[in-house]
Formats: sequence, structure tokens, C-alpha cells
Amino acid sequence: MPEEKKNIKSCTSEELEKLLEEMGEQPFRALQIQRWLYSERVRSFDAMTNLTKELREKLSHIFTLPSCSVDRETLAPDEAEERRTSKFLVGLHDGLAVETVLIQADGRRTVCVSSQVGCALRCSFCATGSMGFTRNLSAAEIAEQVYLASDRLAIREPSAQITNAVFMGMGEPLLNLQNVFDAIGLLSQKGYRMSLSQKRMTISTVGLVPQIGELMRSGLKTRLAVSLHAADQAKRAAIIPPAREHTLDRLRGVLVEYTATLHEPVTVVYMLMEGVNDSPEDAQLLARFCRSFLCKINLIDYNSIINIRFRPVGELRTQSFIRTLLDAGLHVTVRKSYGSSINAACGQLALEKTAGGPGKPESQTG
Ligand code: SF4
Repeated sequence: MPEEKKNIKSCTSEELEKLLEEMGEQPFRALQIQRWLYSERVRSFDAMTNLTKELREKLSHIFTLPSCSVDRETLAPDEAEERRTSKFLVGLHDGLAVETVLIQADGRRTVCVSSQVGCALRCSFCATGSMGFTRNLSAAEIAEQVYLASDRLAIREPSAQITNAVFMGMGEPLLNLQNVFDAIGLLSQKGYRMSLSQKRMTISTVGLVPQIGELMRSGLKTRLAVSLHAADQAKRAAIIPPAREHTLDRLRGVLVEYTATLHEPVTVVYMLMEGVNDSPEDAQLLARFCRSFLCKINLIDYNSIINIRFRPVGELRTQSFIRTLLDAGLHVTVRKSYGSSINAACGQLALEKTAGGPGKPESQTG
């Protein structure tokens, strides 16, 4: 029986170098091949024109070269020209799909990428959590979402460039740590078409303590966002199951260390949910939690999701919540839930697809 071909994009640089060496090739060929794969994004080995014909043929006998594709695109219809949200259902080589969101606002073009198909953590406010976990995305699949969003952007605005990437889509990025780190490497590689600054990439987590420590020690320059959503241990554990283990005390400890070591603020993301985490006492607790380390607070309104039970908070209560934080001397920004008309919150698009929902657009993650 012939040996099954391997996905070349699942190989690390070291694996590719080793394989090439075994084939009698020079190790520098690995860099050439990776450039074709991740910067030029060719779809066949034949297109790798600076490789010998013999090597291209050998590669095509050993490897497959799968690519991700945009299976569906939805543009929020109700947003002004300078503020647009597009959501993509990105098809993977094995028939699974994830969501990617492109947000054009405030002069930035930000791509929100998924890192896993589904998620095992089951936060109660999150559409992705209700899907369960299927698999991790490879580094290539994560990076490719940014390129696909860039291609779509170029159709509308040929001179426009992606300015930021956030790992805030489907899945918990810190549970797919090495692939996320490798994807950041691919996206920030000097000389590659994307070549995004690592400082313009943000990893978002629900607060996995040891992994935040690993990120701190990784040497990457990416920013960190932590989805807090409650500064009361019991409340937080009720909506974010991993918070039972990764308690507020442990989380505060690692964030104090992280900010003291890297001298960079952490973004504390707090999604206001009516009757859950929006009381004056909740605001006081949040202020107390955030005063112990360098941070800015990003309040977001809850984007109602199919099948999820929480509701957004009214304007008066939101203003009062913000006032408490400002009075405590904290830096607060309020993020509108862009694209709510297309459910641009991670998991909704894929959720509808899984549930066989209506053929309308759909994508909330921490
Ligand atoms: S909020 Fe993030 S960690 Fe929680 S279930 Fe959703 S994707 Fe997973």
C-alpha cells in the first residue's frame, strides 16, 4: 500500500529541514519552501519556481499542499463606510470550518482569528463554548485566516493593509500555545507579504495562569488581553468554568508578575451582562482587582447570541459602571459590539452551520 501523503503545512521548519537533508537537499531549501507556502501562498509545488524540477516532483509525491478557503462572507449592512465588519466562514482541508472577522474601524483593519475548532472550556456566555472541542488549528491554518481577510480587503480597497490581528476568535489560544506562537512567527516574519509587527497582535485568554507565565517568558512582543467578566470568584467560576482552577487570586498574581516583567499593560476585557456582573458592587470589585497591576479596561456590550441566555445592559447602568471605574483612576474604553447585525461574535456563524440553522449570516468569544 502506498504511504499516505503528509500535509506539508503541518511540518515545522526543523522537520522540513531534516526531511530535505534526508533527501540530499541543502537545508536552505526549507526557507525557500516556507516562503512559497506562507508568503506567496502558492497552491502547487510546480509554482515554486526557484526549486529544481526534480525537487518539486519529489515534494509532490510526499506531500499534500492544502489551503483554507472563504466559504461564506457576510458584510454588516448597517455600518457606516468607515466602520465595517465582515465575517468569514473559513473552510479547512478536512471539511471543518472556523470563523474569522475583519473589523475596519478607527483607522485600523483588524483580523480576529480562531485558534481552535470549537472550545472545551464551555464559558456560559459563549457560542463557541456550546459547540464543544473538535481540534486545534495548525499554525498555518491560523496565519492563513489573516491572509484570507487581507485578500478580501484588497478587493474592496486595493491599497489597504491589515494593521492588527487579535487571537480572539473561536477557541482558547493558550490551549493551542505552540501553534499560536508559530502562527505569530509566520505573520511577523520579516520579508513576508504580511510581516505584521508582533506589537500589533493581541492574544486573548480567559485567564489560564501557567500559560500566561509561558507567554511572558516566550520572548514574543504580542499584547495580552484577559477576559475577566467578573471580579467576584464565585460569579466568575459560574460563567467561566476554568476559573475554578485559575482563581482570581492566582490570576492577579500572574498579571502582577507579567506587567512588572514586560512593562506592558494588560487589557482586561469585561463584558457587561444584565443582572450577572453589572451591579455597583461588581464595578467596585473590578476596580479593586485592576488597581494591582498595569492595565486598561475594555468594557464591551453583550452581543445577544442565539441559544445563549444573557442580555445586554442598559445605558444608564453602563454609565454608572464606567463612572465607578474612572473614579478609581482606571483607564477605561468602551467597545461597541461591531457587526451585531451579522452576529459578529465568535462561534455564531459556525454554530448556525452546525445546527443546520437558517442560511443567513451568523459569528462571541472571550
Ligand atoms: S469564551 Fe473563549 S475560552 Fe470560553 S468557551 Fe468561548 S472560546 Fe472557549
